Amino acid sequence: MKPPPFEYHAPRSVAEAMEVLAAAGPEGKVLAGGQSLIPLLNMRLAAPGHLVDVNRLAELDTVEVEPGGVRVGALARHARVERSAGAAAAQPLLRQALRLVAHPVIRNRGTVVGSLVHADPAAELPAVLALLGGSVRLARPGAVRDVPAAGFFTGPLESAAEPGELALSAFFPALGPRCGTAFHEVARRHGDYALAGVAALVRLDDGLRVTAARVVCVSAGPVPVVVDVTGHACADGWAAAARDVAERIEPEDDIHASAAYRRHLTGVLADRALREAAASAAGDVGTRR
Ligand SMILES: Cc1cc2nc3c(=O)[nH]c(=O)nc-3n(C[C@H](O)[C@H](O)[C@H](O)COP(=O)(O)OP(=O)(O)OC[C@H]3O[C@@H](n4cnc5c(N)ncnc54)[C@H](O)[C@@H]3O)c2cc1C
Repeated sequence: MKPPPFEYHAPRSVAEAMEVLAAAGPEGKVLAGGQSLIPLLNMRLAAPGHLVDVNRLAELDTVEVEPGGVRVGALARHARVERSAGAAAAQPLLRQALRLVAHPVIRNRGTVVGSLVHADPAAELPAVLALLGGSVRLARPGAVRDVPAAGFFTGPLESAAEPGELALSAFFPALGPRCGTAFHEVARRHGDYALAGVAALVRLDDGLRVTAARVVCVSAGPVPVVVDVTGHACADGWAAAARDVAERIEPEDDIHASAAYRRHLTGVLADRALREAAASAAGDVGTRR
């Protein structure tokens, strides 16, 4: 299996990368870790005329813990972010999710930002960005814009990144006070894309009452599906909240699982993730600002 012919570019600076991409327009594709793009090329499901390899852009290989959250540069590999103690302290859901992404060898190459732009509805990181309300920074010569997660994922394998734009970084908001997170999924084999997965974020007050509870579901629709279950959780408890999640998603049948099985799994995983996130939030009371 060989890719269709393309012109290869290896820019040495972000400015040069943006110029090359802008000139290539719809014919241009960024090559980051290549863990999704190279298989697509080899299977001839994509045939860009120009590949712009960003692997020499050391200025994008960054993980910065800012007061409000974690900013991940476009060349930071999954493994680097997973191992970052600062990132895990500021937003534990990043490490919880990254441990579920593929295998270590793929995490050594694949990038967090590449996964976001690839926008696979079965992938963990788009779900994390959606649940946390993060954003992606996109740039072209003379223009930079931050796109909130709510508008970034536009369909299966479709994002708001336009032809000619380079994603520079992604921002994941920090975990708030008295908040907890958890991520649970079921895959056929360890490291496979999940048949179903749920990440939860729960916030408590001083009396350990729930003040916010949200989940995001993967492999449950064309984009990550965020469901706010605060009302259900407060009134009826976690089991009812999880049932609500299962009822509100619209999964599809495919060769891996039926829609009914995905719905069932999502309910079970939502219950598990919400309880674990709440327990984590309760354990943090008094130790977090
Ligand atoms: C066997 C296998 C199993 C996997 N399992 C999982 C899994 O369980 N969960 C999961 O989430 N992922 C999984 N992946 C995918 C992996 O996480 C990829 O690394 C990730 O999806 C894409 O990151 P990348 O850096 O390799 O991007 P690439 O493959 O280089 O690019 C992917 C797409 O994003 C675009 N892109 C990348 N970076 C930029 C940028 N800076 N600006 C603009 N566009 C950009 C590319 O043009 C391309 O369209 C798996 C991959 C393999 C091979």
